Amino acid sequence: MHKVYIKTFGCQMNEYDSERMAGILSGAGYTITQDEHDADYIIVNTCSVRQHAEERAISFIGAASKKHKVIVAGCMAQRLQDDIIKRFPGVKAVVGTFNFAKIAEIIKEEKRRVYAGEEQTDVFNIRPKKEGEIRGFTTVMQGCDNFCSYCIVPYVRGRERSRDKDSILEELGEMGKMGYKEVMLLGQNVNSYFDRKNSVNFSGLLREAVKVDGIKRIKFMTSHPKDLSDELIETVAAEPKLARHFHLPLQSGSDRVLKLMNRKYTAGHFMGRVEKIRELIPGCSITTDILVGFSGEEDADFLQTVQMAEKIKFDAAYIFKYSVRKGTAGEKMEDSVNEKVKLERLNNILELQKKISENMASANIGREMDAIICAPGRADRGLLEAVTDTNKTVLIPAGSGKIGDTVRVRVTGARRVMLEGEVI
Ligand code: SF4
Repeated sequence: MHKVYIKTFGCQMNEYDSERMAGILSGAGYTITQDEHDADYIIVNTCSVRQHAEERAISFIGAASKKHKVIVAGCMAQRLQDDIIKRFPGVKAVVGTFNFAKIAEIIKEEKRRVYAGEEQTDVFNIRPKKEGEIRGFTTVMQGCDNFCSYCIVPYVRGRERSRDKDSILEELGEMGKMGYKEVMLLGQNVNSYFDRKNSVNFSGLLREAVKVDGIKRIKFMTSHPKDLSDELIETVAAEPKLARHFHLPLQSGSDRVLKLMNRKYTAGHFMGRVEKIRELIPGCSITTDILVGFSGEEDADFLQTVQMAEKIKFDAAYIFKYSVRKGTAGEKMEDSVNEKVKLERLNNILELQKKISENMASANIGREMDAIICAPGRADRGLLEAVTDTNKTVLIPAGSGKIGDTVRVRVTGARRVMLEGEVI
């Protein structure tokens, strides 16, 4: 039977979609290979969120499609559709974000065309999982209604759809039986999850999810600051199985720029959410996304972002410079910040955040926390990697336990953002 290699660009949602495609194809008799040179078909699961991500995918497709049958899937496939077919003669099919569930039929059909029609109704019920895994994902909602002016996601992933609570709990139950210990619940904006049939919001879902046997820790991503309720923070505070971690994208510390970005909150509101988290969940880690150089961002606005980062002290931040995405509201705004200034601002805040992240990691030295052993040390086989309940990686000596065990760890050191520890 044919061998398929899947190359994934982008976020965890894409990683999860790739897992789902791999599961569908294995079920249909294809072999999933980790060696692209050995593959009959290469599926490229693309990301459109930044220009750079698209450029990397395009360069990969260009090279791969000279030697292999290539199928382009994901957000860039949804956005560019026919343009990809026209540009790359070696591309056999283009599969949009609503059509990946048909991937086995698409390969079999061998028609050189775009599949970007209506969503399949069963997309939430594709649940391929691997034996022997400790950490996994599942989707609780898809799409986004927020239309931040820089973001392509609502156009390529569609409007928000929340998954039925019972289907999520059933899948978690299956994962628990298979040996998964930690599950990340995914959605573009999990805070606005709402199961209409059962009248359950995200906090309600979490309160039920923690009761599932076998699963020791539940994480979620991403939270929109405007929708982060007291109830959700209180739920995380009350449930030991929920990771003490929020990924809360700030994007800018300037109210003027936040308005231009259509983020629908102010810097003051964001700060209030951070204070509430730290009041109710001491030691909770908070990570963020920051976008510098957005259209209209002046020095004073950037300074406010720097001041917010200094004041809040995020454990980690994913920081990018703005590039216009075609088809978004941002395309109609004047991209007023020149590249040199964007780059200066980017380097400036990256440097600052690096120090903050290292200090935040070092502040854990001497603390005790629960960690799940998840893998052998990547750089050093004499170590094991464990993940703490604050979502930090801690390296512990090999022999401290086996993969999947929960251990109590005392942090003894920090290597940049990674921790070192011993089991107590
Ligand atoms: S909340 Fe904004 S940034 Fe996040 S996916 Fe939706 S539109 Fe994009």
